[in-house]
Amino acid sequence: MLPLVYHPIYSELELPDGHRYPISKYRRLYQYLIDEMKLDQDNEILFCQPEAIGVDELKALHHPDYIEALFGNTLPAAKMRRIGFPWSQQLVKRTLTSTAGTKMAVDLASQYGIGIHLSGGYHHAHHDFGSGFCLVNDLAFAARHALTLDNIDKVMVIDCDVHQGDGTATLLRDDDNIITFSVHCDKNFPARKPASDIDLALPKHTTTTEYLETFESILNLALAQHQPDFIIYDAGVDIHQHDELGYFDVCLDGIFRRDHLVLSRCQKADIPIAAVVGGGYRQDHQQLVELHAQLVHAARKVYHSG
Ligand SMILES: [Zn+2]
Repeated sequence: MLPLVYHPIYSELELPDGHRYPISKYRRLYQYLIDEMKLDQDNEILFCQPEAIGVDELKALHHPDYIEALFGNTLPAAKMRRIGFPWSQQLVKRTLTSTAGTKMAVDLASQYGIGIHLSGGYHHAHHDFGSGFCLVNDLAFAARHALTLDNIDKVMVIDCDVHQGDGTATLLRDDDNIITFSVHCDKNFPARKPASDIDLALPKHTTTTEYLETFESILNLALAQHQPDFIIYDAGVDIHQHDELGYFDVCLDGIFRRDHLVLSRCQKADIPIAAVVGGGYRQDHQQLVELHAQLVHAARKVYHSG
C-alpha cells in the first residue's frame, strides 16, 4: 500500500497576478496521479486527507509570540514581506493543514513503511520568523513528532530541495536525536546558510551525473554513521535544469533516480520514510507535475516490486 496525503486547500489560495508561487501545482499533481491510477488496475494507492493541526501545537517549535502574531495577523509588514505571501485567513488555514499533512505522512510511514505528502517542505521557516514562502516548518515539526513514536530514537531529515534547509537547521540545532542533512546549490537562496549537521553544497550547473554520484556517496556515509530509525525526505524538484529558481542542470530522469536512490535505501534497510514534494518553480505550473510525480513513480517501483 502506498499512502499519499493530499488536501484540496493546498491549491486554494488567492495570490496576486504574477506571483512566483506555483499554487496550482498541488491540485494538478493530484489530478495527474488520479488519472494514472485509472489507467492502472493494479494500483495500491491510498489517498489520505489531513485535518488542520491546532495553532497551539506549534508553540513548542516556533516562538509563541511569532505564532500568535502570524495567526492573529499582527505580524509587521516587513515580516510578511519576508514570507512572500499576502496575509489571509486561508493562508494560515492552509499552513495548519499542510503541517498536519507532513505529520500524517510520518504516521502513515510508521504503519506502511512509507508515506508521501503531496505538499510540504517549508524549510525556510525559522524559530521566530518565516521566509521564502515558508510560515511554519513542517519538516522540523514532523521530525519531532516522529521521535514520539515507538522505537524511533533517531530521525534524519534529508533535504534535497535546491535551496538550503536553513530554518530546519536552526530549529533543530539542539535536537541531538535529529540529524539534518541538506543537499543544495552553494550560490542560491538563502544567502546565509546556517550549518546543518551535514551540508552538501554543490556548484551552479551541477549535472545529473555529478549530482547523483556525489549525493549517493554522502548519503551512504550519512546513513552508515548515524543509523537513523526514521527518515523525512524533502524531494524538491527545483534541482531540475529548467527550474526558474534553481541553477542545477539535473534532468527529469535524474530526479527519478535521486528519489529511487533514497527510497530504495530506506526500503532495503527497513527504515520508514515520510517524503514531501518540496520546491519546484515554473510560470507554467503544469510543467511541474511530471517532475513531482517522479517521487510517486519511484515509490511505486520500490515498494510495489516486493
Ligand atoms: Zn527550493
